[in-house]
Amino acid sequence: MKKLKRALAFDIGGTKIASGIIEFEKNSYKIFDYQKIKTPKKKKEVIQKLIELIIYYKKDNDFEKIGIATLGRVDNKNGIVIRAGNLKGWENIKLKKIIKKITNEEVKIDNDVKCFALAENVFGRVKNYHNIAYLAIGTGIGGAIEFDNKLYRGENNIAGEFGHMIVDFNGKKCACGNKGCWQQYVSGKAIEKLYFELYREKKMAKEIAIDSTRGAKKDKKIIKEASKFLAVGLVNIINTINPEAIVIGGSVVRQGEILKLAKKKALKTVLIPGRKTKILKSRLGNEATLVGAGLL
Ligand SMILES: [Zn+2]
Repeated sequence: MKKLKRALAFDIGGTKIASGIIEFEKNSYKIFDYQKIKTPKKKKEVIQKLIELIIYYKKDNDFEKIGIATLGRVDNKNGIVIRAGNLKGWENIKLKKIIKKITNEEVKIDNDVKCFALAENVFGRVKNYHNIAYLAIGTGIGGAIEFDNKLYRGENNIAGEFGHMIVDFNGKKCACGNKGCWQQYVSGKAIEKLYFELYREKKMAKEIAIDSTRGAKKDKKIIKEASKFLAVGLVNIINTINPEAIVIGGSVVRQGEILKLAKKKALKTVLIPGRKTKILKSRLGNEATLVGAGLL
């Protein structure tokens, strides 16, 4: 029997760290021993947890290599986390070197949305497409670009940071230091802020999305407003890189009508040839980033 390829994969997010053994076949994968823990607050604790988990997985599992997807900007060649706005202190970490030194394991590291893109390209709805933009809309907006089926990283691996496209010169402040970045208007946090600004009540983005589909007027208004902002960014992406498809994942688009509304508006607004762009929801959902880390 053919030997299956197995990788240990991690997905480090701002709120949780997911891990598991991913077994790959030609057109499919399986996840074993999936675990999810809260992301510790301090950088040292995050590294400590990673090491503990690697030792734990090594005990009972066979795997060839380790892949780590992390939020933030990553020097993927040297395995260094450069900076992550949503996880304080998660910067300038020579993760590859540290893990090698302590566990003697080889690891590959990349930005989480780049990993999400890899997985969607291999197992998702776009495996027959060649030029694709990816968006992950959650706490912020991450992105990735693939040209001719290869990740386009740019000179310093920051290509596809769509969340930091400036859509309003004098707009809301972003963690990157600029004003008016797109992610300040469409992310989960942004939707919650919008709700609070209008109604002086706190409500979770997920609940706003669900209630809007049930016909709640206040929630519908917010989702409609956010969908306009989502459309603006989609138009910018289509008009600048002209992809065949845009794949969108993340908690914000999982529920409700925001994507449907934005898609309609965006495709009406783009330059005419761009109307053919397919705007699709991610198929792999939550797992995509972890699977992509395994693919690294
Ligand atoms: Zn920004």
